[in-house]
Amino acid sequence: MSVKVFLNEDEMPRQWYNLAADLPSPLQPPLGPDGNPVSPDQLSPVFPMNLIEQEVSPSRWIDIPQGVLDLLVRWRPSPLHRARHLEQALDTPAKIYYKNESVSPAGSHKPNTAVAQAWYNKEFGIKKLTTETGAGQWGSALSFACSLLGLECKVFMVRISFDQKPFRKIMMQAWGGHCVASPSEETAAGRDILANDPDTPGSLGIAISEAIEQAVTDTSGQTRYSLGSVLNHVLLHQTIIGLEAKKQLAKIGEQKVDVVIGCVGGGSNFAGLAFPFINDKINGAEIDIIPVEPASCPTLTRAPFAYDHGDVARMTPLLAMHTLGHRFIPPPIHAGGLRYHGMAPLVSQTVVEGLSAPRAIHQLDCYQSAILFARTEGIIAAPETSHAIAAVIQEANKAKEEAKEKTILFNLSGHGIMDLNGYDLFFKDVLTNYALPEEDIRQSLELIEQFPKPALNKTGKW
Ligand SMILES: *Cc1c(COP(=O)(O)O)cnc(C)c1O
Repeated sequence: MSVKVFLNEDEMPRQWYNLAADLPSPLQPPLGPDGNPVSPDQLSPVFPMNLIEQEVSPSRWIDIPQGVLDLLVRWRPSPLHRARHLEQALDTPAKIYYKNESVSPAGSHKPNTAVAQAWYNKEFGIKKLTTETGAGQWGSALSFACSLLGLECKVFMVRISFDQKPFRKIMMQAWGGHCVASPSEETAAGRDILANDPDTPGSLGIAISEAIEQAVTDTSGQTRYSLGSVLNHVLLHQTIIGLEAKKQLAKIGEQKVDVVIGCVGGGSNFAGLAFPFINDKINGAEIDIIPVEPASCPTLTRAPFAYDHGDVARMTPLLAMHTLGHRFIPPPIHAGGLRYHGMAPLVSQTVVEGLSAPRAIHQLDCYQSAILFARTEGIIAAPETSHAIAAVIQEANKAKEEAKEKTILFNLSGHGIMDLNGYDLFFKDVLTNYALPEEDIRQSLELIEQFPKPALNKTGKW
């Protein structure tokens, strides 16, 4: 009755997988303010050129530099678990596996890209990184990575999480990062928002504006911005999760996975697990691929595929993605990492193509599911991850109804030990579900009506 599958350090994948090379319809390019595709040069004040090259790379496989492998090996390969006790509690014929990304020093998948980005920036001669963070996972992951490489790290943390999640700030401090609440008085973008709405809970879109502004206005030229999700190179770095999972499943003789599930904020942990399996699906395998989002921030399930900015102050290029509108401020649910108006263009294109089928779940169902998981498997999951767990339980129950012995794989993107406040409110019965009125979405989308429209490219195969 084995419950864990390990890889040796020398079995860790040596290349990342780039789904952009295999998409049946090509990604549509980011557009600049003039409506033309942005050139790599236009991005160079924001990101180092070596990461920009990765962002636009057409190669299917990209070598992981030895320097990055040396950083990843501190906690990777991560274990693959069989959730036997959850299976028993559900009395399901399904086999449930999860990739445990909570074992990283910061407690989530985010260090996988944080160490890679910090390494590439350092190679390029950069001394300081700025970034935003929602629940604080990304800020702590980047602070950790910067501390390993001797870079300075400045984090703009969404106000509501800054107040609700003080422990993440302390983690950032422990790793030498500097964290301020966003919107802040430190940037023009922050001051502008505060003048209009002093009590704003903040949003990832606002924090991104602040972090980019601070990077591009540093006249020394040695500061760059780092993003924890959404962009192609970030998703690329996360594919080590799915590539490891495939090796682990092969090791125990699992021939086929039927369902792959991950929660989605900007899309990176989902993509990291799912993209290597989407490759199989493109090549003929039958797999249900399910990104799961909060019902209160329903980017993939209720928002259009459109060109929009990634941030409130419109500092980013226009990205072709599912979006609730760059001014959308999601309801203050406790899964801070899933409160983002947009979605990774690569993930959005898999939805347009029908290669993945998104699902939205309310937060009370998610907490209930996370508690069943904690009482069976033991791990207290992050509120973000609880969305994946809720969908896993739905799928396992469906397998039971259909009497099918399905194999379900999901990404345990992080633990919730730093997010117990949300659990506390759940136990005290004060959390509610937020149903987002259609009118709010319509209003928020008015702002992006004047932008160019991306084509809905779809081969119709899936
Ligand atoms: C940040 C975070 C997420 C959401 O971000 P993605 O880029 O969509 O993965 C999900 N789970 C955890 C634990 C996180 O820290």
